Amino acid sequence: MENTSSSSDAHVLIIPFPAQGHVTPMLSLAKLLSFSGVFTTFVNTESIHRRLSGSSGLTDRRRLRFRAVPDALTGDGGGNTRDFDFPSRFFNLQESMRSGSTEAYKKLLTEELIGEWPPVTCVIADGILDYAIEVAGEVGIPTLVFRTSSPCCAWAFASVPSLIHHGIIPFPEECDMDEIVKGVEGMEGILRRRDLPSFMRMVKSTEDKHIKLMNGFNSKLIIGKAIIFNSFDALDPTLLPIMSSYYPPIFTIGPLHILTKSLNISNEEEEEQQEPGINPSLISLLQEDRTYMTWLDNQPDQSVIYISFGTVAVLSPEQFIELWHGLINSGHRFLWAVREDLVKGKEEIEITKEMEEGTKERGCMVEWVPQEEVLAHRAVGCFLTHSGWNSTLEGMVAGVPMICFPYFSDQMINSRFVSEVWRIGLDMKDVCDRNIVERMVRKVMEESALELRSSTARMADLARKSVEENGTFSC
Ligand code: UDP
Repeated sequence: MENTSSSSDAHVLIIPFPAQGHVTPMLSLAKLLSFSGVFTTFVNTESIHRRLSGSSGLTDRRRLRFRAVPDALTGDGGGNTRDFDFPSRFFNLQESMRSGSTEAYKKLLTEELIGEWPPVTCVIADGILDYAIEVAGEVGIPTLVFRTSSPCCAWAFASVPSLIHHGIIPFPEECDMDEIVKGVEGMEGILRRRDLPSFMRMVKSTEDKHIKLMNGFNSKLIIGKAIIFNSFDALDPTLLPIMSSYYPPIFTIGPLHILTKSLNISNEEEEEQQEPGINPSLISLLQEDRTYMTWLDNQPDQSVIYISFGTVAVLSPEQFIELWHGLINSGHRFLWAVREDLVKGKEEIEITKEMEEGTKERGCMVEWVPQEEVLAHRAVGCFLTHSGWNSTLEGMVAGVPMICFPYFSDQMINSRFVSEVWRIGLDMKDVCDRNIVERMVRKVMEESALELRSSTARMADLARKSVEENGTFSC
């Protein structure tokens, strides 16, 4: 991307939902816009702003500034969502943000010229941050909606009425989870019941709050001037044209992390902007642990399985133990990012001698790593992931085949696309047994390694091409 500094009066305000998976791609976009000369205000909730400032020292730059609005979060920005009543928690969060943040947000939207900063001319709001989209509309500022999930997941949510019509949801009692479902246009023959976003499993009746939740995710996409996805056209050549006939214009502008990495830093202003603290790929809501690096440097090429379940997913002690045994029994090396709150009830875990010794011999466990850097390391040969959308894109771009163990929401459908549509990995969904883990690891690292590595490399190539100049930047 070129730096085309201009004296334009464009001023974009970007406002993400307060969770890492949302903040990261939207911050990438903020950085890209500001580098290309657009005044960009990035708005976090105070709790997220504090955590980012604490770890990375966010500072305002000439065309990128950070602002915070009050929030009512307790600081976890998401939490152990599967065990909770997610819809109620989500609706409460929306309401508390609406009542706590609207005034400060409106003030930012309506500010007159400040120094060389023009008033806000455009909002890019997270597609699930209802109040941000609504208030921008009330103030009369054109709004683009950024949906940080995959397009296939957004489309599954949009298909809720059709899935109800086809009798797929609510799921009948004792239904066959492996049955291929009808009702999602463009995905015929691909999705089994178990691949639908997890909220669909929880629907008890057509009045269920999960239906309201999913319809809500879709309804805000329709009211913006355009929809932005952190994705690229070649990933969904069938789906995107179908979605385009239903939605406002769709722009696939990703994978954003390739673009932020490839910024040309040759001129002075960009060098100034490249200071630590505003490189979104380095920004994390959790503390990184660098001890992994020495260990990783000492491993042979493509010999290590990197394991991470993102920022929200939670494992039971049983699942953790089965995964751990499976990894050790596979005989392969592994690097596991074990977040402090990854295992609920971790005090119940009995670490056996076998687990301890196997890890000492071939494993490394740390709390948090810079994932993009790890995935790009020559020693990494497989990514065991929860299939969050950012992780999926990062694994794909790094050309690392995946084993998917999705936890909830969009991860269920992302993992199906990884295995059956893009063919860049295996889907272990709903099963967590040491024998299966071992078998999957052996398949990715041994039996199917060549095939999976070459299809993942092909996909990585398509991803890179899509963000080149004249690449397939939009739909
Ligand atoms: N991540 C990281 N280090 C870790 C684990 C995760 O940097 O040890 C980052 C990862 O690179 C990704 C984000 O956290 O950008 C997780 O986002 P994703 O959409 O995959 O999952 P979520 O956390 O939203 O479920």
